[in-house]
Amino acid sequence: MTFAAVTSAVVIGLSGHVVRIEARVCPGLSGVHLIGLPEATVPQTRDRVRAAILNSGYPWPDGQITVNVLPMGMPKYGSSLDVAIAVAILAAAGTVPVDRLADTAFLGELGLDGALRPIRGLPCALRALVTSGIWAVALPAASIEEGGPCAILPAVSLTDLIERLTSGAPATVPTPRVPTQDAPDAPVLDLADVPGNQAARRALEVCAAGGHHLLLHGDGPATMLAERLPGILPDLDDAGLAQVSEIYSLTETPWQGRRRPLCAPHYTNTAAAIFGRHTTGGLRPGAVSLAHAGVLFLAEAPEYARSILDGLRYPLDTGEIMLADAGGILGLPARFQLLLATHPCPCTTPTLCHCGPIERRRYLNRLAPLRERIEITAPITPLDRLTAEPGEPTATVAVRVAEARARAAHRLTGTPWQTNADIPALELRTSHRLAPEAFDPLDTPLHSGAISPRAVTRILRLAWTLADLRAAARPTRDDTREALRLWQGEPT
Ligand SMILES: [Zn+2]
Repeated sequence: MTFAAVTSAVVIGLSGHVVRIEARVCPGLSGVHLIGLPEATVPQTRDRVRAAILNSGYPWPDGQITVNVLPMGMPKYGSSLDVAIAVAILAAAGTVPVDRLADTAFLGELGLDGALRPIRGLPCALRALVTSGIWAVALPAASIEEGGPCAILPAVSLTDLIERLTSGAPATVPTPRVPTQDAPDAPVLDLADVPGNQAARRALEVCAAGGHHLLLHGDGPATMLAERLPGILPDLDDAGLAQVSEIYSLTETPWQGRRRPLCAPHYTNTAAAIFGRHTTGGLRPGAVSLAHAGVLFLAEAPEYARSILDGLRYPLDTGEIMLADAGGILGLPARFQLLLATHPCPCTTPTLCHCGPIERRRYLNRLAPLRERIEITAPITPLDRLTAEPGEPTATVAVRVAEARARAAHRLTGTPWQTNADIPALELRTSHRLAPEAFDPLDTPLHSGAISPRAVTRILRLAWTLADLRAAARPTRDDTREALRLWQGEPT
């Protein structure tokens, strides 16, 4: 046999795409032509596959080898095609029986020693294969638990895989198991560990109940509160878990457990680390995507580069992040709750602070790009474990949050929105219109220009969350008044 064709898949963004790999060995001068891969990846792929085949004890075919990866024009970054390309070359050279290739797809990266290594984005690749009717997949043995619904032919090395193919070893369906669902969550950090700070604790609860964004200002336990927010949020549902698992499958760290992610990048991180980037190894999600369906926490928020604070507006408004490279623009999910924390001024030692109101105002104004999108602003104060009132435990708060979210979800049944923060402005004027007296507290500040019409929209969403937390059918004047106070909790 001088020709063979093999099926595989690549992952672009979070989309898997089936690809066909053709290999042909012709008499002539020795050489390898790889067609259909991005130019930057051709030498690496060729060298890796050649070294793996030789180090696995197979002869490198004599003659001219042509490998064609179809469809053309698709940006096939990454190393997920290594195994398929090696198998196609060995089949074209007669080492592998071609009849074993027809109904099996091949996924995996090759080490120079011939070891099969896991690929990023495996769930997305498998979904594409299954959708196209391919149910048997040869995979690195380390990835067998991620095999999902497919019949798996696991192998630890290229030699192992070729022997299984030549001996006719059948692909087997692994024990049904989604490891991310079975894995235990990390222990909950308890809110009871944060005494005092009643305003901040109330703000955190409201933010969790309605999916609102929150700014904590002052010198206090901002990080402790942020770390405890996922504990009071409801766990990921099946759809959310699948999406988060797929995003984390693009990294080296698979997602574990059902608790919502908390991503807290330091302000020294680059824009690429925050928003994600393209590499020759594929798409790398940034913090905004790793926080999808969970929380993005920015401590010392004014210290982040202006370009990063500006750039957060797009995912906050759209729920996704667009990443461009020479091959095109790809989107990744990035719908998160934003939790910001800031000190009153840029001093690292508050006791020596001589900052005046102008310095403080200038410092906090760095957050101006995000200010309109933050529904709740609350003060934090230093921990005082001796005299401060003990805090409620996470379990108690989580129940209230879950009940409030359930009320909102019930009210929003049949709509694409799940939390009060999702309700569009138009709906707040129609199906979610407040009684005139409930709107009263907003009349004066709106007409005096103290709050903008856009702010009113966000305050009304907050008012609905406060009503849900009280198990009330509709917001009252008191809810609107508290919502206004939460919105206006301006640092001074
Ligand atoms: Zn200062």
